[in-house]
Amino acid sequence: MSITKRATFLRGVHVPDNKYLTNTKPIEVMPAPKLVFISMSQHIGKPSSVVVNVGDRVKKGQLIGEEVGFISASVYASVSGTVKEIKSIKTPLNTATYVVIENDGLEEEEFLPPIDKNDRQAILDRIRIAGMVGLGGAGFPTYVKMATEEKIDVILINGAECEPYLTCDHRMMVERPEGVVLGAKYIGKALNCDNIVIGIEENKPDAIKAISQIEGVTVVPLKKKYPQGSEKQLIYACTKRKVAPGKLPASQGVCVFNVQTAYQSFEAIEKNKPLYERVMTVSGKGIENPKNILVRNGTPYQDILEYCGGLKDDAVKLIAGGPMMGKILPSPQGYAKKTDSGLLVLDKTEVCLEEPSPCINCGRCAKACPMHLMPMYIDLFTKTGNYERANSYGAMNCFECGTCSYVCPAKRDLVGSIQYCKRKLRETRS
Ligand code: SF4
Ligand code: SF4
Repeated sequence: MSITKRATFLRGVHVPDNKYLTNTKPIEVMPAPKLVFISMSQHIGKPSSVVVNVGDRVKKGQLIGEEVGFISASVYASVSGTVKEIKSIKTPLNTATYVVIENDGLEEEEFLPPIDKNDRQAILDRIRIAGMVGLGGAGFPTYVKMATEEKIDVILINGAECEPYLTCDHRMMVERPEGVVLGAKYIGKALNCDNIVIGIEENKPDAIKAISQIEGVTVVPLKKKYPQGSEKQLIYACTKRKVAPGKLPASQGVCVFNVQTAYQSFEAIEKNKPLYERVMTVSGKGIENPKNILVRNGTPYQDILEYCGGLKDDAVKLIAGGPMMGKILPSPQGYAKKTDSGLLVLDKTEVCLEEPSPCINCGRCAKACPMHLMPMYIDLFTKTGNYERANSYGAMNCFECGTCSYVCPAKRDLVGSIQYCKRKLRETRS
């Protein structure tokens, strides 16, 4: 183990982290619900293809959705029981095919066969077959990221967790540091790289301490700044390497993986357990008992909220994910999926209720943008329908971190405008 000095990236913003609601709360295992609704579209790429039928009996860990094509990921039953329905469901986030399983409570398991843990190809195959995806929220299939031709000399584990409120990765590092590091080492073995680095924001001293006690990993304490956990910013902070626009981290010899992706890879390789559950944070002043919970894939959001004591009377906003990059939910209809790092319930003291006003050209959005873009001009030209001109100010290089909207004194929805511009540009180019 070694620790380097506090590192960071250029620009960004200091956001109140509000992690105190859950950062000392140990991970609780939420009991499996009576019914799980498991989506076949919980990753970037093609939806999985259902391989069970209504009426089938399934075991926990059994394949129910098979990957289709190069960019896809398999999906597994999170409970044992009977397949009740296979149907399309529309939620506030998307419309997808779901496999609905009635839980029989028997917890019968059907895990994957053991592999040779020293075999590089066997590790790669296991990560693919286990349905591993980026658990930080991106949902990109992990094996696709690992299928690089570039020489990788840094396996970088993202322990920044810079989104306010979220503490699930923090608790994983405190409570299961060996699994996180061992998972990273397996990923490194598959990529022929034994240089394991983990970046952790300084507001998690107990996580820095826990990971530092394990051999074979370099811990980089990071300044608390948003968006410290975005890939390019994290790579710069930890290695001082710059990934050019349009290029992948592998072009700089780096592959980045989330803390829980590393941990779940460890479980897939050591325990033959496919990905069917994850730890998420349920937080905000609008929920009775904020917690970090281990949740089965497909658990209804409504059940999760009830398990955390239910909504308070003054709850005004529900968000899937963190407040900066998460998605606002108009209702709690939805089901836990691989990429769910958080479910937030905010009261009126935690949200901005001001209406947007005209831009005053203060330049704060440009000064804060970690990608050095000009959000006010992207917004201006998007509003006039001149999307190519908007792109000349970097629209397509925006990774939608929300920093510009956060700092704007006129409360303009800059990131919403940029997302719209990107959609329009993609439409005209396809
Ligand atoms: S323009 Fe995009 S990358 Fe820059 S601060 Fe705004 S959302 Fe973040
Ligand atoms: S921060 Fe807001 S008001 Fe200031 S330049 Fe940017 S868009 Fe305009």
